[in-house]
Amino acid sequence: MNILILGAGPCGLGAAYHLHKLGHTDWELFERNSHVGGLSASFLDENDFTWDIGGHVLFSHYDYFDHVVTEALGDAYLEQLRESWVRILYTWVPYPFQNNIRHLPVDALEECLNGLRRLAGDPQRTLNFRDWMDTVFGAGIVKYFMEPYNKKVWGVPLETMSREWIGERVSMVDLARIERNIAAGVDDVNWGPNNRFKFPLHGGTGQIYERIADRFRDRIHLEYECVSVDPYRRIVRFANGEEAAYDILINTMPLDRFVAQCTGMTDEVVNAAGSLVHNGGYIVGLGFAGTRIDPKCWMYFPESDSPFYRVTNFHNYSPNNVPGGRTDSYFSLMCETTYSSHKPVDKDAIVEETLQGLVNSGLLSDDERASVVSRYLIDIPYSYPVPTVGRDDALKVIQPHLESLGIYSRGRFGAWRYEVGNMDHSFMQGVEVVERILTGAPEPTVESR
Ligand SMILES: Cc1cc2nc3c(=O)[nH]c(=O)nc-3n(C[C@H](O)[C@H](O)[C@H](O)COP(=O)(O)OP(=O)(O)OC[C@H]3O[C@@H](n4cnc5c(N)ncnc54)[C@H](O)[C@@H]3O)c2cc1C
Repeated sequence: MNILILGAGPCGLGAAYHLHKLGHTDWELFERNSHVGGLSASFLDENDFTWDIGGHVLFSHYDYFDHVVTEALGDAYLEQLRESWVRILYTWVPYPFQNNIRHLPVDALEECLNGLRRLAGDPQRTLNFRDWMDTVFGAGIVKYFMEPYNKKVWGVPLETMSREWIGERVSMVDLARIERNIAAGVDDVNWGPNNRFKFPLHGGTGQIYERIADRFRDRIHLEYECVSVDPYRRIVRFANGEEAAYDILINTMPLDRFVAQCTGMTDEVVNAAGSLVHNGGYIVGLGFAGTRIDPKCWMYFPESDSPFYRVTNFHNYSPNNVPGGRTDSYFSLMCETTYSSHKPVDKDAIVEETLQGLVNSGLLSDDERASVVSRYLIDIPYSYPVPTVGRDDALKVIQPHLESLGIYSRGRFGAWRYEVGNMDHSFMQGVEVVERILTGAPEPTVESR
């Protein structure tokens, strides 16, 4: 069985890793870029700062993936606390926000508590993400954090999003616990000593995938961009004019673009793929001369005085993310801003707007702003696959049709399921689909609800 994999991000590499491990020899992987890693790749800029494509933190749910990461990195990693904060009303609130509202100014705190005391309605009966928020968090928390923050991240009207994806992604609310935290004056955070993540010592997150790929480089064809697929003759065509035949195709490129490239798709499938919604992102990496002593890993920004929704103290993840490993001389901030048709952002202005936002939100002084020594902008047209109200119905039309043609579309944008779209999920989707193809085993990750 000749298996062709499209895309060398975590999902494609997961599929390749498992095929290699099982000793299946008849497979090839084709990747558009000149490097592996997809959205989990990393880059060294001309001033020697390392950047990820936004803050990448390992939240593994799988022993298999943990083992692969350990094998890939050996002892070349550091461990960091998953420590995150929300910047709001000129103060810092530990995450999860709702458990730590005691940090808010008194008026805002009262509003949040009143909202929680007046909760009404059944979250399971709500029709969309926006309504769900009201019934779970109440008006105050929605007003200060949930609504502005989610609008910044998703860049779409929140009424168009479903609530089914939420699961463990959003911490639920326990009023008695919040009141206890306020009375006792304690923080209620989910980053205990055991809540650590591994980060590569050198080369950023992308190093994990470079090392995985080292096991089977001879089968990875870089700079092969798929431009069309004939799913009936089972042939993929590339931008360089070459073609490759397959028995089974594992696709990890964005599902909407993939369907658009397939010849002979039914109108129903084409329309369903056209209804899938995504946003884009600008990742602004800013390298500074100077030192920054701030143990926070990453920070959320719901307010409108900054364009970004998240900033990472990236020099904290590894000293080697700054030139010469010199955190006594340099620091680096990585800032993520969403764009979409509902939320346009000027690409030419985003770097300066980001700098200004860092000053506005109290992260940088004017002097520090002047000490910027490196600016690095990454534009990701596909950043978040949005879980819209109609998404699952669309996927139910597309995926079975593709599978009937020997095509398995998996990964963050291949399966288009945000709730299983992190690195560990994506890698394991690749592993699990190979297992399904070769043995008929179920695929727990994509089948999960
Ligand atoms: C801003 C941001 C922050 C994130 N933070 C985290 C985090 O903290 N923790 C976490 O676990 N995950 C995080 N993720 C998710 C993580 O990046 C993804 O889970 C992972 O990269 C998805 O892997 P994938 O292989 O499914 O897709 P991708 O990484 O998108 O890889 C797909 C590959 O297909 C290739 N491709 C596309 N089109 C073609 C074509 N026509 N021909 C050939 N090849 C093609 C692409 O070049 C790419 O290499 C984040 C993602 C973003 C955008």
